[in-house]
Amino acid sequence: MADIIQLLPDNIANQIAAGEVIQRPGSAVKELLENAVDAGATEIRLLVADAGKALVQVIDNGKGMSPADARMAFERHATSKIREIDDLFRIKTMGFRGEALASIAAVAQVEIKTRRQEDELGSFVEIENSLVIKQEPCSTPAGTNISMKNLFFNVPARRNFLKSNAAELRHIIDEFIRVAMAFPHIFFSLTSNGQEVFHLEPGSLKQRIVQVLGNPYNAKLVSVSEQTDYMNIYGFVGKPETARKTRGDQYFFVNNRFIKSAYLNHAVNTAFEGLIAKDSFPGYVIYIELDPAQVDINVHPTKQEIKFEDEKIIYAFVQAAVKHALAQFSIAPSLDFTL
Ligand code: ADP
Ligand code: MG
Repeated sequence: MADIIQLLPDNIANQIAAGEVIQRPGSAVKELLENAVDAGATEIRLLVADAGKALVQVIDNGKGMSPADARMAFERHATSKIREIDDLFRIKTMGFRGEALASIAAVAQVEIKTRRQEDELGSFVEIENSLVIKQEPCSTPAGTNISMKNLFFNVPARRNFLKSNAAELRHIIDEFIRVAMAFPHIFFSLTSNGQEVFHLEPGSLKQRIVQVLGNPYNAKLVSVSEQTDYMNIYGFVGKPETARKTRGDQYFFVNNRFIKSAYLNHAVNTAFEGLIAKDSFPGYVIYIELDPAQVDINVHPTKQEIKFEDEKIIYAFVQAAVKHALAQFSIAPSLDFTL
């Protein structure tokens, strides 16, 4: 019998790997917005058509790329953000895996225009099925303008798994909000089928939260703020009266990264014990900052799950900080201090 094992061609390997990072238009939104943040942009515009199925476009005024980097960015494991494994535990950027653009280029048609401030001309690159089909100099504002068109055009089976436009747009908005809440000093906008849905001027954390979650929150937030040598915690919890029967506005950010943690969620819920009905959930937006060496963010490709070196300390700290904030509020509700 002949040998039967073969290496997969790059474009197929990339399509398979893409499944971990890009499940839907919203996943691309997250990756492209994070790239714009990592590029130091102060203005980031997101445009989508047909709930991202036809187009996801992100325009930033960040540092842009050289012509060679504009191609290289789409190679798998190509990144400017880490050089060695230890860098993972010092990481300050949102990205580091060098997989997002390669994944997107494997499952969609991509066009990018990018220019560094110091270059007179920028580069235009067009990619399909992981292959560069065109690259030429172009004039374009400093920064990066990247379009992902016709997601899964070459993987019909996955295209069929996409949900209705309403559901996919909801995912896009969720991802947009998470990034926007982590970086209140950056201008963000979201335009869907030509209509501006969000226009978020830079401001304080509280302003950004209210911009995103809605005006009714303005008078209903209690500040949380504690510092220790090990970690800082800041942000807001909703006053007990804002608790709802469904889990709604609950956000944790660790070193500016939105994370999902049932464990920390429990810490906040228990801090509310006795203040809200048993079957209801408090709203909160809580930011935790600690040494990156204390967190492993490389446990999941989308980085929404992380591992803490010492989970129990974090739990106790979150719970105590929220309790403290609520106690101060109940003693002097009118003295709600803001950050
Ligand atoms: P990662 O973000 O993990 O490094 P990506 O595939 O998302 O991987 O991006 C690859 C590289 O392309 C980045 O490391 C960065 O150098 C460059 N890049 C991507 N997007 C942008 C952008 N909007 N502006 C400037 N450089 C970018
Ligand atoms: Mg990235």
